[in-house]
Amino acid sequence: MNSFFIEFRDPLFGVIVFFVLVFIIAFFSYWWARFRTKEDHRHLDKFLRGFRTLPSKGELKVLISKGELSEKSWLLLAHSYFKNGDYEKCIEIYSELLSVGNKSNYRETLFLLGRTYFRAGFLERAKEIFLKILEKNPRTPQALAYLLLVYEYMREYSLALEVLEPLDELQKDIKKDSVYLKILALINNAKTTTEDKLKDLVEIYKEERMLTHMVFEYMFSKDAKLAWENLDVSKCEMLSDVLWRLDKKDLNLDIITQNGYLRELFTARGDVDLAKNSSVFEFDVLINLNKNANATLSFEYVCDNCKIVVPFAFNRCSSCHAIDTSRIEINLTKDYHRNFSEENNSFQ
Ligand SMILES: [Zn+2]
Repeated sequence: MNSFFIEFRDPLFGVIVFFVLVFIIAFFSYWWARFRTKEDHRHLDKFLRGFRTLPSKGELKVLISKGELSEKSWLLLAHSYFKNGDYEKCIEIYSELLSVGNKSNYRETLFLLGRTYFRAGFLERAKEIFLKILEKNPRTPQALAYLLLVYEYMREYSLALEVLEPLDELQKDIKKDSVYLKILALINNAKTTTEDKLKDLVEIYKEERMLTHMVFEYMFSKDAKLAWENLDVSKCEMLSDVLWRLDKKDLNLDIITQNGYLRELFTARGDVDLAKNSSVFEFDVLINLNKNANATLSFEYVCDNCKIVVPFAFNRCSSCHAIDTSRIEINLTKDYHRNFSEENNSFQ
């Protein structure tokens, strides 16, 4: 029995104690290392979560009023929210900065708040802000330009035209805005008959020779005969989409036969057979496919000023607000309509 117990003075006892101590130290250092790694992870997760969740309105109020960050830092932060489309946070920051009462950049911050309201679609609030700026500083072209946009979006065209006067006095180029607003006011006037609208539109176009797409899109939709009579064939390329979607009964074969671009476009569409090829790649493919493929054209619109690309036609760019800067890009695409009509016919 005694053979199982080791004597206190036995050298083996010392060796065992040594190994037990080594084991205990190794175990605790391993456990401590794991605990620290877990803690580090938790700390990092918490830190990163702070960037994903935005500060609440109350938190922002405290942060801004404490003044730990400079006004410029807050403006930069608001601008990045604006760029990302988070207008709510952006508005909160500007409103808080204004309520703190820092007078140094008051007008600028007010303008930025108005611009954000406009971009977020709060037109009435944006209008109030720009009118407030103009009340004290009537010669602020940026506020006038945005007030014009607000009135235009609110369909208050007569008020928008009134804003052009002070802009003109400030030596700003208002020609395009003036013609564009006049056409918008005319087209949307509920009291004028379509006949009178078309008559006035022809007069405006003859005099100004701009906004071709806007004028002829409307004219072709209301009176194709009148549109063909007034069409400047050198600008057909600008109207490729309108012409491509034109009803077959509205085609003017005399004019189409006399113009190379129109011959190619309507041969590609399959209405006539007046071209064997085309310098426009998309037309060329469709002419050579000769209706055998399930293909058609689709259109994209590029702003020549800011290069934004959108799938719908525009007369004023929604991004840079420039007028008459849209350029048509033609693309070949699958003809879903043809597929649909063929499927429908197969059931008959
Ligand atoms: Zn643009």
